[in-house]
Amino acid sequence: MRAAVLHAPGDVRVEDRPDPRIEQPTDAVIRLTAACICGSDLWPYRGIEAVDGPTPMGHEYVGVVEEVGSEVTTVRPGQFVVGSFFASDNTCEICRAGYQSRCVNAEIMGAIGTQAEYARVPLADGTLVATPDLPSDDLVPGLLAASDVLGTGWFAAVAAEAGPGKTVAVVGDGAVGLLGVLAAEQLGAERIVAFSRHADRQALAREFGATDVLTTRGDEGVAELRELTGGLGAHSVIEAVGTQESMLQAIRATRPGGHVGYVGVAHDVSLPGDELFFSGVHLHGGPAPVRRFLPELIDLITSRAIDPGRVFDLTLPLEQAAEGYRAMDERRAVKTLLRP
Ligand SMILES: [Zn+2]
Repeated sequence: MRAAVLHAPGDVRVEDRPDPRIEQPTDAVIRLTAACICGSDLWPYRGIEAVDGPTPMGHEYVGVVEEVGSEVTTVRPGQFVVGSFFASDNTCEICRAGYQSRCVNAEIMGAIGTQAEYARVPLADGTLVATPDLPSDDLVPGLLAASDVLGTGWFAAVAAEAGPGKTVAVVGDGAVGLLGVLAAEQLGAERIVAFSRHADRQALAREFGATDVLTTRGDEGVAELRELTGGLGAHSVIEAVGTQESMLQAIRATRPGGHVGYVGVAHDVSLPGDELFFSGVHLHGGPAPVRRFLPELIDLITSRAIDPGRVFDLTLPLEQAAEGYRAMDERRAVKTLLRP
């Protein structure tokens, strides 16, 4: 099969790899309908995360089940399925509490690589959710978004306790931040403030439900947000970047007693204990348990209540994955969809 492989920073190649096969009786093999490039794929692409030899890339996926292992009972060949970036059994105590990304048997799909024609999905019963029917082609980008960026933005909004009467601020205007805006809107937030300096992303944020856009960041952004909120700060803040600056901006933008939902993969973030102590905010986040939300998100997408597929502003054949990475690295694209 053909698959995207990162050889070194900036060097993505699409090449032949062995066809995946059933290795465990709980596995499924899927034929990918669409895959995509994640903001977090840019960390190794930019050399910020070490690249240890040729690495298969990708962890977001939708596709059609080709084959299942002997113990798989909830999905069958021919079904269209959505999974998330962690395979999970969905039965352990952690999964049942809604934290499938920290399942005691979790396996990370990024190690398998889904920017490919086929992928093996471990723990298929717990990981994959089938759509009611084969979706029409225009629903595929939205379902693919559910696999990571929507599920992650949704978790961030839930973790930040976005809801009726709340002012929600969103730090980060990548796909996750933008879909955090959409999630906050769906959860009933009264006011949604997006931080963004890019006109195209601001427009999408407003389309997804942002009521205000601030072009400042860091402490300047915090000061402007305070002005908008009677000096108090937001009730709920979504952090969708993962840097020291964005995390401190999120905490400082939150009013005492408020909630920060942080989902940007942290890179060299260290929090000052004294400031955290006196902030009086709740912090909750981490790798999103996307699986918790998949049934609900699939329903919202297939009923056309939401269209998270709007975050994909570049679609390329899998063979042109390298251009997809370049476009995102140079911020020419918010998010690239790849068609195997
Ligand atoms: Zn589990």
